Amino acid sequence: MSDIRIANPIRTAGILRRYEIGAKKKYGQNFLIDEGLLEEIVEASGISGDDLAVEIGPGIGGMTEFLCERAGQVLAIEIDERLIPVLSDTVGHFSNLTILNADVLKTDIGGWAAQNAPGRRIRVVANLPYYITTPILMALLEGDAPVSSITVMVQKEVADRMVSGPGTKDYGALSLAVQYYADPRIVAEVPRESFDPMPGVESAVITLEKYDTPPVEVESRKLLFDVIRASFSQRRKTLANGLGNSDAIRLTKDEVREVIAECGWDERVRGETLTLSEFAKLTQILYTKM
Ligand code: SAM
Repeated sequence: MSDIRIANPIRTAGILRRYEIGAKKKYGQNFLIDEGLLEEIVEASGISGDDLAVEIGPGIGGMTEFLCERAGQVLAIEIDERLIPVLSDTVGHFSNLTILNADVLKTDIGGWAAQNAPGRRIRVVANLPYYITTPILMALLEGDAPVSSITVMVQKEVADRMVSGPGTKDYGALSLAVQYYADPRIVAEVPRESFDPMPGVESAVITLEKYDTPPVEVESRKLLFDVIRASFSQRRKTLANGLGNSDAIRLTKDEVREVIAECGWDERVRGETLTLSEFAKLTQILYTKM
């Protein structure tokens, strides 16, 4: 054990050298070397001594150390087998930590928690591998695991898309998917210098506080997301064209136009101007016609 934090830039460089670990680009490995920022992330996550913290991609343990000090239990899921012996040296002394050498997208987090941490609230905290940010977030939001919040480092551009509203350039299917399930809030903007090696993009930390029930009600959630996807598939086109050209919406263009009129909107309306409630209203009317 060392008094110096794992995320200290000199200690991180030392660990990477000693274990001869070159950061693997294909796994999105950019290790955090900013202790103040890690304090801020763990604080923003709201983790308490009763919670199970699930960390995706612990790397060499920089964030894991902070989580183990604060959470009741920590589950850290790391795909890169080279990092498992490193983690056992750096954070293996924490008795509340379980390390799984696995792909998070193939891990049943809910099942693990039910068996090994029953009754604990689940909070996901991570410096995500950017190459699979969206699949990870969608799996956490849509999946069966009872996750109550997600606090993650992502590309700044992706964070901006998640918090955007109608009529802005970043608004799209991701904004609506996230906002259907959770209340997103950017808690920090992070410069490239906070990582070793430095990533090619700016980053941000975002917290998604999951809703118990979604803010809008629809008969078919699948149709809602089909409608949203179709509306944004051709950004410059009207809503009527987007929906009329979609294989998922089995209505003619004329029928689609009638539905838009029934909603009380101009026939040239664009999907990018509609709120989540308006998409829900549109979906409900489409549902009755299909
Ligand atoms: N948490 C560490 C930190 O902040 O310094 C490392 C973060 S690094 C951006 C992303 C981590 O996710 C890497 O350790 C990488 O090996 C791991 N990773 C990549 N793909 C993964 C996957 N599918 N499942 C689990 N871990 C993954």
